Amino acid sequence: MRTWIPDDRKFAYLNWKQIEALPKERTLLVLPTGAIEQHGHHLPIAMDTLGANLLLGRALELVPKELPIYALETVCYGKSNEHIGFPGTMALSASTYMAVLRDIGASVHASGFRKLLLFNAHGGNTALNDVMARDLRAEFGLRTFHMGAGAGAKLEGLSEQERKYGFHAGEVETAFLLAATPELVDTGAYTVNYIAKIEDEKILSPENGPVNFAWLTRDIAPSGVMGDPRAATAENGERWIAACAEKAAKALMAAFEFQ
Ligand SMILES: [Zn+2]
Repeated sequence: MRTWIPDDRKFAYLNWKQIEALPKERTLLVLPTGAIEQHGHHLPIAMDTLGANLLLGRALELVPKELPIYALETVCYGKSNEHIGFPGTMALSASTYMAVLRDIGASVHASGFRKLLLFNAHGGNTALNDVMARDLRAEFGLRTFHMGAGAGAKLEGLSEQERKYGFHAGEVETAFLLAATPELVDTGAYTVNYIAKIEDEKILSPENGPVNFAWLTRDIAPSGVMGDPRAATAENGERWIAACAEKAAKALMAAFEFQ
């Protein structure tokens, strides 16, 4: 899998003697979490794993070289049962996914480290990363953190409609790959599907409403796209990647400094 994580930030490129010699109390380990799941007709199923590698890699380039902050290998399979029924989606159950995170956390702890940050690029993992960050804190005393790969960055030029409801294979993800791996975007195969409109907010909504109903993609988005990729450009993609990386680098630094 393609990654933008610099070699000197890859925990797995160290040998165990080098790992033993790290300042374990201070070292921040970052576990990227992604998914392998359908992303419409135009993006690869690796989208969220590429996104995690891309945004974390670019963020790590902005962190001072001398600080001991390392990326673990990306958990590429995620909790993707919302996309079941589309060829290529590889979903872990919630219990399997949580067990994977629990065992990685146990190994981080057994290796003598204290700080673990979960860096997530797939919406279906968010609730579970939240739970596991707290569980790893409780079970192992790890200082844990969890964040979205976008780090809450403001994406200039993105419409309010797309910001709120373009969350799957829409303009943002398409722009990211147009900038980073344009050969993986089929620009002739865009489809558009909004599951809700901001001017037509209802009490009961699929996302971000006062009351949300649980949805499966096949119920609400026949092509698998939730959003509109048509306005995506490589230029915006590069600007948005840079904006996310800058915010994420600040988040990594804050976690590193947090006692
Ligand atoms: Zn995605």
